[in-house]
Amino acid sequence: MKKSLLISLTLCFFLPLAAQETNDHAADSLRHVFGRQQVVPTTLTTSEYADTLDTGNPSVKVVLYDNGTYRFVKDPSAVADSTVFSEFWDTRTVNPYNTSPETLPDQFSIWIVDSLDSYCCPNKVTPRSKFGYRHGRRHQGIDLPYPKGTPVPAAFDGKVRISDYIGGYGNLVVIRHANGLETFYGHLSERKVDSGDWVSAGDIIGLGGSTGRSTGPHLHFETRYKGAAFDPSWIIDFETGTLRHRLLKIRSWYFNPNQRYVQNVDDEDEIFRTDEEDRIAAEEQAKKEAAARAKAEAAAQKYHTIRNGDTLSGIAKKYRTTVKRLCQLNGISEKTILRVGKRLRVR
Ligand SMILES: [Zn+2]
Repeated sequence: MKKSLLISLTLCFFLPLAAQETNDHAADSLRHVFGRQQVVPTTLTTSEYADTLDTGNPSVKVVLYDNGTYRFVKDPSAVADSTVFSEFWDTRTVNPYNTSPETLPDQFSIWIVDSLDSYCCPNKVTPRSKFGYRHGRRHQGIDLPYPKGTPVPAAFDGKVRISDYIGGYGNLVVIRHANGLETFYGHLSERKVDSGDWVSAGDIIGLGGSTGRSTGPHLHFETRYKGAAFDPSWIIDFETGTLRHRLLKIRSWYFNPNQRYVQNVDDEDEIFRTDEEDRIAAEEQAKKEAAARAKAEAAAQKYHTIRNGDTLSGIAKKYRTTVKRLCQLNGISEKTILRVGKRLRVR
């Protein structure tokens, strides 16, 4: 996990490129570009991974860094056993499901992101070509202007199903997400992941390009549920780079090949909210509160890296604590030999 985490942190550092922003206020512009869902703090990239804490949610850990910052990280192994990642799993076939959209319920809801806000906008830009029929051809995604060589981030956490050159898609990456959703990234000039890789939202999965049936560099972006494509604009407002919903209500007619996103249906959500959604929303709230508690706990902790000549009593004095408390916090005794370079929790 450590390795993949560092890779993802390193890659996140390049996110400003994805947004075609190269100014000195990278963090600010990221916040601006990706909206409040952007969760990747760029300041973490230069710091060493230090320790991991539990949060009460077995699939979520708090990772602490030497510089005192922290980040919530989802442990992919917690969802790895889910049948979502084994059933209808095929590394070559664009649609491995044998479900037809007509067999899906009239309406159902899926969580697009949970309380960890793991989302990264593929590109905040006015789409060049929309979902639906175009010159008599079915267009199952949305085309986003994307200069060749620009890093393409994963929109959500998930597992890479396809990383291959596939017909009109050219270099294609398909990521399956724990909620059953799949996101497609087509016409890439280069693929940076392999099928089977776990990725976090914001990880760079390839570079923008014009491979396959394409008339110029752009990103062909699709969202599919059980193989059925629907307009990605139901999920993402590309103009602002923000998510429209955390809990997305999907109606069967979204899968109509010519059905584009329409704004006004969202208003129904408040009126026709079901008990099930209320229950899920309450669970979500509880999860959020648990994460906030863990965050406060993590923020309150402090560590000291042992240097030559350090003694427990010296460290205790420095951090205005007691030797007894240091021993408690670290599960050591007063006689434990302090090793230079080892980290000691002091608070
Ligand atoms: Zn397209």
